[in-house]
Amino acid sequence: MSPAMLNALIAFVPALSVAAAVGLYWKFRSRGAMRAVAILPPLACVVLSVVVGQSIGTILNPVASEPHGPVGDEALALHRESIVADLHADPLLFGRDLLERSEAGHVDIPRLLDGGVALQVFSLVTRAPLGYNEEATDPDRPDLITLFALTHFWPPSTYFSQRERVLYHAGRFEDMAARSDGRLRLVRDRGDLETLLAARRAGEQVVGGLLAIEGSHVLSSDFRDELDAFFARGLRMASLTHFFDNEFAGSVQGLEKGGLTMRGRELVAAFESRGIVIDLAHASHATIDDVLAIARRPVVFSHTGVAGTCDQYHNLRDEHVRAIAANGGVIGIGLWDTAVCGSTARHTIRAMRHVIDLVGDSHVGLGSDFDGYVRAHFDASGMPLLTQAMLDEGFEPDTIRRILGGNVLRVLRSGLP
Ligand SMILES: [Zn+2]
Repeated sequence: MSPAMLNALIAFVPALSVAAAVGLYWKFRSRGAMRAVAILPPLACVVLSVVVGQSIGTILNPVASEPHGPVGDEALALHRESIVADLHADPLLFGRDLLERSEAGHVDIPRLLDGGVALQVFSLVTRAPLGYNEEATDPDRPDLITLFALTHFWPPSTYFSQRERVLYHAGRFEDMAARSDGRLRLVRDRGDLETLLAARRAGEQVVGGLLAIEGSHVLSSDFRDELDAFFARGLRMASLTHFFDNEFAGSVQGLEKGGLTMRGRELVAAFESRGIVIDLAHASHATIDDVLAIARRPVVFSHTGVAGTCDQYHNLRDEHVRAIAANGGVIGIGLWDTAVCGSTARHTIRAMRHVIDLVGDSHVGLGSDFDGYVRAHFDASGMPLLTQAMLDEGFEPDTIRRILGGNVLRVLRSGLP
C-alpha cells in the first residue's frame, strides 16, 4: 500500500466511520432493531480509533521498572537549592491537562514541582512519519500526528496544517498557564526568566515553561511571517530537523543526512535575530558542522546520549561535543534507555561524566525527552534521584548545580530576547 493511501486511511477511517454510522442510521430509521445493528460496526470503528489514539501516550511513555535507591538528605538539600532546568519534553502532544497530576506519561505540573524543576522546555511535535526508524526515515510516510489530531479532538484546522498545530498547542499552554494560579508561567524573555528565578528563590511553587518546535519542517520556504506568528505566541527554541530531512537541513535520521541548505542558513540567522535558541537535536552530522560554523550565539543539543558511552549513530560524537563546547552551548543528556544504553540515573551520569572528561562541566545539562515516546528512567518527580546519583559518582556540588540548570540558564540568558 502506498504511503499516501495509508495516510488517507489513518485520517479518514474515523471520519468515514462517523459518516457511515450517520448514513446507516438514516437509511434504517424506520426499522428499529435493524437500525441499531447496522450502525454498530462503524461506531465500533470510531470508538476503537479513539481508544487506541488516546492510549498511545500512556503505552509508549512508560517508566523503567529498575529499583531506585533512596534520596539522602544531602542530595535533597542540594537539589532543592539548585535551579533545575530540563531542555526537552513533549507532554503537550498527548492532550492531558498538565495542571492535574496524572499516572500517564512523565510530565505534569504537580510532578515537575515534586521533582524540583524550575524550568521545563515544552516541545511541539508537528509531524511524525508512521514507522519512523533511527537509521533513515521517509518523510512521505503517513503522519501519526493526524491520528492524534482526530482522536484527541483537536480542532479540524489542525488535521492537515502543521502550523495550526503549533498555534493550537501554544493556545492550550496559554490557557493552562492562565488557569494555574501562577504555578505555570510562560518564559518569553530574560526578564521573565529572572522573575521566575526570583520566585523560585523565594520558595514559590512555580514552573516556567519555554515553548519549542521539534523540526523546522513546520515552516514554509517563505517563513518570516510564520516565524513572527510563532514568536508572538512564545516560541523561543527551535530545532532545524526532527526525524527526516527537510528543505532547511538534513536530519541524522533522514534519508540523505545532508547539511544546511541556503534557506537553512537564512533560517538560522532569522532564529538568532529574533532570540529563538537553536537546538541541534536530530541534526545530521553535516548540519551540526554547518550550523556551528555560522552560529553567533550558544546553541543547545536538547536531548541526546553520547556515542562515547552508548555507541549509536544518532548519539553525539566526541568531535561534536567539543564543537558545541567551543560554541559555548549546552548538551542535554537524556533520561531514557536507548540514549544512554541503560535504564537508571547511573547510565545518564556515565554519559555526563564522558562529556565532562572531554570539555569540562560547563556544557552539560538535562534533556529528559519526557513524554517523547521513550521509556524514561523515572517520571519528572524522580529528578532528585539524579542529584543523588551525581553525588554517588563524586561530582562536586558546584558541578551538580551547573548540570541541573546553571549551564542552561547561561545559554538562555545569552539567547533570549
Ligand atoms: Zn526528539
